[in-house]
Amino acid sequence: MSSHRTVALVTGAARGIGKAIALRLARDGFAVIVADLPDHPDAVATMEQLEATGSDAAYLPTDVSRVDEVRRLVAAGVERFGRVDVLVNNAGVQRRAGFLDASEADYDLVLGVNLKGPYFLSQAYARHVEERGGGGRIVNISSVHEELPFPQFASYCASKGGLQMLTRDLAVELAPLGITVNNIAPGAIRTEMNDALMDDEARLRELRSEIPAGRMGSPEDVADAVSYAVSPGAAYITGTTITVDGGLLWNYSE
Ligand code: NAD
Repeated sequence: MSSHRTVALVTGAARGIGKAIALRLARDGFAVIVADLPDHPDAVATMEQLEATGSDAAYLPTDVSRVDEVRRLVAAGVERFGRVDVLVNNAGVQRRAGFLDASEADYDLVLGVNLKGPYFLSQAYARHVEERGGGGRIVNISSVHEELPFPQFASYCASKGGLQMLTRDLAVELAPLGITVNNIAPGAIRTEMNDALMDDEARLRELRSEIPAGRMGSPEDVADAVSYAVSPGAAYITGTTITVDGGLLWNYSE
């Protein structure tokens, strides 16, 4: 491995926003670790696209909600590439349920993937950074729902609100290790997570009318912000959220 190359680990990178982030960081010159669930149907195609950028890439199957697996993931990444410079906690899920009907299983799934995953993966990553003498970046893919209520999705909102505070806390706690920690908060982005919405032209029209930019975001819009957050120019930015939403969050009129 040449010493100048840097290594990025992106969770949930087999498809959607995570895949766009992986491709963007590969084009930026990073070697990329794709961490996603085992036997992901999109993993082969994603790896082919990554390899076509000329970047070195590895698919390391992982369930991020399992602490033993995220520890193994960092160890396997270090074994494969020698180091991990950047961690992007992107994997996320949502479950629709009115609060009175929400189940324990759905709560455990959503909080497990969206909050417990970033918590313990960041811990495993920070321990690695400490061992190699410091310096790194953590970027969490949060959501405008770290701020904005989303009825029927209380577990999702709780997970993203928790991620916002985790980011603020770790920005302080990991600064001595030279690690910056930031959130990227997407608004409405065209991915398979929004499949049901994509098939509903009336709801899509209504949603677009609430976005000042007049369009949904693309996964690449989010990947551009990640690229900046891990660039040398963002070295003094930590503990904050970059909202990527075309103005959706603060749009209010009467
Ligand atoms: P997606 O469903 O298209 O992709 C999510 C990826 O995460 C999938 O590849 C999936 O296999 C992976 N994943 C799920 N559970 C996992 C687990 N336990 N371990 C490892 N990987 C797992 O979703 P997306 O739209 O690309 O969303 C990515 C992130 O962006 C999520 O954190 C989501 O909350 C956030 N986000 C999305 C939108 C949007 O409009 N799409 C808006 C705001 C925030």
